[in-house]
Formats: sequence, C-alpha cells, structure tokens
Amino acid sequence: MDAEIIAIGSEILLGATIDTNSAYLARQLATAGVNLFRKSVVGDNTERIAAAIREALSRADLVICTGGLGPTLDDVTREAVALAFGRALEFRPDLLEQIAARFAAFGRPMSESNRRQAFVPAGARPIENPRGTAPAFIVEDPLGTVIVLPGVPYEMRFLFETAVIPYLRDERGVTDVILVKTLHATGLGESVIGEMIADLMQQSNPTVGISAKQARYELRLGARASSRPEAEALIAAAEATIRERLGQHLVGDEALAETVARLLAERQLSLALYEGAAIAPIYRALAATTGGLDRLRGLIVHPLDRPADEYAAAALAHAGAISAADRWRSELGLAAQAASEPDASGFTAVSVALVTPEGSRQVTRRYDLRQPEGWEFVGTLALDMLRRYLLGEPE
Ligand code: ATP
Repeated sequence: MDAEIIAIGSEILLGATIDTNSAYLARQLATAGVNLFRKSVVGDNTERIAAAIREALSRADLVICTGGLGPTLDDVTREAVALAFGRALEFRPDLLEQIAARFAAFGRPMSESNRRQAFVPAGARPIENPRGTAPAFIVEDPLGTVIVLPGVPYEMRFLFETAVIPYLRDERGVTDVILVKTLHATGLGESVIGEMIADLMQQSNPTVGISAKQARYELRLGARASSRPEAEALIAAAEATIRERLGQHLVGDEALAETVARLLAERQLSLALYEGAAIAPIYRALAATTGGLDRLRGLIVHPLDRPADEYAAAALAHAGAISAADRWRSELGLAAQAASEPDASGFTAVSVALVTPEGSRQVTRRYDLRQPEGWEFVGTLALDMLRRYLLGEPE
C-alpha cells in the first residue's frame, strides 16, 4: 500500500506552527510497512484541499489528512474531502450525540457551531474521538482511501494508534499477521506422522512442525498473511488436511489429558484406576491437567504383582480394571500392568485395559521402562484408549 500525507492548516503553511504531525505519521507508516510517497501542506481552503486530495489519490492508495476538523468556518476539511469525492456532507445524529456527551462530560455548554462537526462526507466511516470533540473519519472510495484525523497532536496520535493502525492491519492487510496454532496428536510414531504430512511440513506458508514428548505430539501450524482472516483460512485449510490424514489420532486443540477430562465431565462418567506400578502412570497423566482428577472415584495401586510375561500382565490389567471399577462403583475402570522383567532388548511389555458398561478394550505394547519417562508412554496409551472410547471410536 502506498500513502501520502496532507497537513491542513494555514498556520502550518505559513510557518506559525511546525508540522510535527506529518513527521509522526511518516515514522508510524514506515513502521507499519506502508510506503510513503509524499507529504504536502495546504492552507484552509476547500478547493485547494480537495485538489490536493485528488492529486494525492492519483498517485497513492491511501491519503492521511490532519487538521481542519474544528467547529469554526475556517475548518473546512470535511467539505474539502466531500468535494474531492463528489459526495455530499451528511449529518450524523450519532456523532452529534457523541459530541454533546463530550461537552456534558467537560461540564461545558455545546455551541451551535459544534453541530458542524457532526457532518461527514456521505458514506464515511466515523472514528470516535474520546480525546477531543472532532470526530475523525475514513472514506473508502474507488478513487482510494482518505483518513482524516484532528490537528491537535495528542488527539491525532491517540486516534492513529487506537483506530487507524488496527484499521490498516485488520481491514487493509497492511501489517503482516502471524498466527500460530497447536494441534495435539497421539497413537502413532513421530516418523509415521511425519510421513503422513510430509508435504505440509515442506511448504513455507503455513509452516507445520512436529515436536514429540513420550508419544504425545504437538503439531505447530504457523501462517503468515496480510490479514487475520487470511491467516486463519491458511491455518484452517492445513488443519483440515491434517485431520483427514491423521483421523482418530488427531486429539485436537487440547492436549490429551485435558480432552479426556473434558469428555468425562461432558458424559458424566466416573473413573477408577488400577495401577500395577508405584509410579502410577495413568494417575500422573491425569493429575497433570487442571480438573483431570475431577471424575476420578478412586485408585488401586498394587505394585506387588510380578506377572511373568505379557499374557500374565494382560490378565492382571483386565482383572485390575474390573476390580477398581467395582470397588469404587465407577462406570469406567482403567488399568496398566507391566510384566515384571524386560526382554533381551530392554523393553518391557505393558498391558492397558479399559472396562466400560459395554465391554472391555485392551492393548499390550513394549516400552523401555528403565527410565522413568518410559512410564509416560504408558499414561499416554491409557488415556488415548479412554479418549477413543469416550468419542465412540472403535478400538
Ligand atoms: P480540533 O477540532 O480537535 O481542535 P482540528 O482538526 O480542528 O482539531 P486544527 O484546528 O487544524 O485541528 O489545529 C488545532 C491545533 O493543532 C493547531 O492550533 C496546532 O497547534 C495543532 N496542529 C494542527 N495541525 C498540526 C500539525 N500538522 N502539526 C502539529 N500541530 C498541528
């Protein structure tokens, strides 16, 4: 976007007042990434201001004017902008109300001439001015956009920062917007996920990156665009593709434990746990999130069983889930039981079982439990089994 600035006021033209507004605006536009083509100064004359605006619009997309919004007859910026666009001036009762409210707040009577300030070029978009009486305004036209701000420097700066910058950013795509979204996934290996979305991970906008922590994956989507809606659209498209490819392995916006806690609460289901290890991996995984234990009725920790192999571990896990649900009178029982010894490669079989009013689910996997973090995989496996049940997904 290319811009020009016009400072309006005979006192500026004649050098009685130094044009600090234009210098401020020039710096601000540069920061916002807007190209500034020219600055000019025009006296308080309707035709000359209108001509300056039309000329500026023949070169630039955006013209920012300051000054000449006061109530007196020599404040002619409103008329000049209307003339430049060939529009009439329109009386806006809502603006008069704002102006009257400002005077009431100051405890000063409003004079008849202040009515002038409630006129804007037809179709203009007013910007409320809480620092002064003169409303500012924006005119969007096929010829280009003109933004008119008051001359008083502190009012002008305030409106520029609180109204013009957001307008330029959100509606005119001036400042690039960067949006980041994190999605959570589990139940697949990092390399498998990486292969499923390899094309997305190679593209530059939006970017997609994976970070892994004990079988829980965070997929970070980052989009850069000239407006928020565009950035949101880029993210939404990438998210839809990821959802389609990962299917039930995509947990969503929330982390796994949060999702489980929310689903349990929504479905009004209670849970009891059986933990075959003192480290209690399922309990830990749930306790790590706020509200994670809200639906937990009770817990049996039974580290004394030493199942010889994965079949014995599976049988104990199943029996443990039933006994926990039974003892705590919960709808759901969830259990984890590891075999007592690792195999030759150092991996230990762990069985996770879920009993529900409809039946039971069970899975056995092998993890390296020599490091305490190994147990986090077990917690993830158990919570994911519960999540998928709660979502009505097949085992
Ligand atoms: P308001 O009606 O809110 O007073 P206005 O838009 O009518 O604002 P002007 O009457 O043009 O503004 O100017 C008000 C005062 O603001 C001027 O007397 C001057 O001190 C200051 N001013 C105006 N334009 C500039 C400028 N370009 N740079 C610095 N100061 C300015």
